[in-house]
Amino acid sequence: MALPPPAKDQAYCKVSAMEAGLIEIPLAIFLTEVDNPDPLTGEKDLVPSLSFLLHHSQNSKKFIFDLGIRKDFEKYPPSVVENWIKVFFPCQVPEDPVDSLVKGGYGPDDIDYICLSHLHFDHVGDPSLFPKSTFLVRAEGKPFLIPGYPADPNAGYVSDLLLLDRTQFLDTSKWPPLGPFPYTLDFYGDGSLYIIDAAGHVAGHVNLVTRTSPDRGWILLGGVSS
Ligand SMILES: [Zn+2]
Repeated sequence: MALPPPAKDQAYCKVSAMEAGLIEIPLAIFLTEVDNPDPLTGEKDLVPSLSFLLHHSQNSKKFIFDLGIRKDFEKYPPSVVENWIKVFFPCQVPEDPVDSLVKGGYGPDDIDYICLSHLHFDHVGDPSLFPKSTFLVRAEGKPFLIPGYPADPNAGYVSDLLLLDRTQFLDTSKWPPLGPFPYTLDFYGDGSLYIIDAAGHVAGHVNLVTRTSPDRGWILLGGVSS
């Protein structure tokens, strides 16, 4: 079940957490032991919705995992704004991943790949801010966009969220195992970054496992809120 040892001159990724908004969550939805189990009147907490930049150590490719909440979140489909953000999950987005990239000396045009863990509003951000990136989404997420909003006015997903000519819909079913993970994709083919099947939260969910050093450092990045 162990993860593989490093190779000679092992490539890895430098991982940076980026700002991607804050979301108020009712603890009763996520915890079993709370004083007031009513999600509307019970205790809440303000938590970050994170985005991660993974900078490859050798080929200089830049990869983002999740985009958090878009700044103009009132532009999410009305069903999301009215039924989720205004009722259960109030949001504030003082800075988004583009702001973080600029602070670090990069811009959205520098990003080669963007992998979305799943298509809930607090993870998809605003893909239109990244006009050159290739998007990676698990194939099971695609039906959420068809027809999507506005063709279906009650849909929770925007139909043109992703441009089909710049999106790879990932079929995880034939991916090989890695350590404890049954289905994984060695994304760069050098053992530095793996996309892993993560069924359970919602259809079309993936996580990442990436090396953070040339010796034995690893990090698991998961997007499992809401
Ligand atoms: Zn979610």
